Amino acid sequence: MSTCCPKAPAASVSDVLALMREVCPALEPEQVSLADACGRVLREPVCAPEDQPRFDRSSVDGYAVRLDDRASRFRIVDEIRAGEWKPRALQLGEAMRIATGGALPGDRLQVVMKEDVRAEGRQLTVLRREDEHNIRFRGEDAPAGRVLIEAGTVLQAGGLALLASLGCARPLVTRQPRVLHLATGNEIVSPDRRPARGQIRDSNSTLVRAFFGQWGIAPEQARVGEDKAAIEAALAEGHSRMGGCDLVLISGGASVGEHDFTRALLHESSFVIHVSKTNARPGRPLIVAQRGDTLALGLPGNPLAHFVCLNLYVRAALEAFSAQSARTGFVTGVLSAQLPAGGNTRETFWPARWSMHEGLATLMPLRWISSGDLTPLAAANALIRVAAGAEQLQPGSRVEFIRTERTS
Ligand code: AMP
Ligand code: MG
Repeated sequence: MSTCCPKAPAASVSDVLALMREVCPALEPEQVSLADACGRVLREPVCAPEDQPRFDRSSVDGYAVRLDDRASRFRIVDEIRAGEWKPRALQLGEAMRIATGGALPGDRLQVVMKEDVRAEGRQLTVLRREDEHNIRFRGEDAPAGRVLIEAGTVLQAGGLALLASLGCARPLVTRQPRVLHLATGNEIVSPDRRPARGQIRDSNSTLVRAFFGQWGIAPEQARVGEDKAAIEAALAEGHSRMGGCDLVLISGGASVGEHDFTRALLHESSFVIHVSKTNARPGRPLIVAQRGDTLALGLPGNPLAHFVCLNLYVRAALEAFSAQSARTGFVTGVLSAQLPAGGNTRETFWPARWSMHEGLATLMPLRWISSGDLTPLAAANALIRVAAGAEQLQPGSRVEFIRTERTS
């Protein structure tokens, strides 16, 4: 697909997604603290260094007695609290009080639950004796050497807790990409300013920041006027300040207007242009360019187009950079209302709200008129993939969609 000709055919979304996986190399691994590892991709399998759990532990508060001791009256000879290690060969008629998590004093024991006894001083009367041992036996969760988390796993709270328990305090994960985002346009002002006539507030910078925030990435951001030299300078300055970027996003100016400079600027800055436009709606103007290890995307400024491009192409780039196990991200659901596709000649990514209903992913298409609309973004948590040429889709139709929150 590699071309720098502006008249090159429009790329399909599938083409661009495949291209992202092809041109975005997995970034190098680094060791980070558990506090910094949430959302990162693990780069090596992690095995149990020892049996899990490491020793027999009581799973209840109660009294340890010998399994072969069927008496109902015992003498309490000691107490084991969680964290203590008190090995002891219990004799017939002896019991040890033990707390949940406490290490059993020996083998062939049973813990009688506190609820099933009466204790008076050192005297213990067992009122009920279950078959249940009430012990988490050494190695019952996993034996030493078993792989417990595979390479390619996105670390979330549960996996991090497991790593902590294994003593893997600095897991090997993919480093975060360095991302530079330039919002271009003479009309955009900061959200805290009142725009003059003809101006608008910059919403894309906030969208981009929050989108990357889901990956724990804080992009370097700048607002630049519609001026080729200024954009070029901001690109060069950001690049050197960050010690090189993995991903550059330029919002606005991706089309073919008099003042749309992104394509020419990237070309003149020695980027190879792979894609100049797509046949997707919204988001027809899209530039994908590469220079060495840097991938640059020129995104159309319209907010809904931005939302679509971030959730399709930038998400694919981040997954490839992170060395996450490959996945398409598309899932199937059912429409809960009509979707007026209108026989558009382009494949459309329709903003929608998905929820689970009677065991099915159910999608409510949201109203939008143009890719400049922002109001559907408040409720959108999905994009429905509507085939080119599709007319009105009826409630109950099966559709493919992608969730717009980070899902793994
Ligand atoms: P462009 O891609 O530069 O032709 O811009 C397309 C549309 O998106 C225009 O209506 C712009 O005003 C709008 N736009 C561009 N940048 C932003 C931004 N940062 N925030 C909100 N809208 C924008
Ligand atoms: Mg513009």
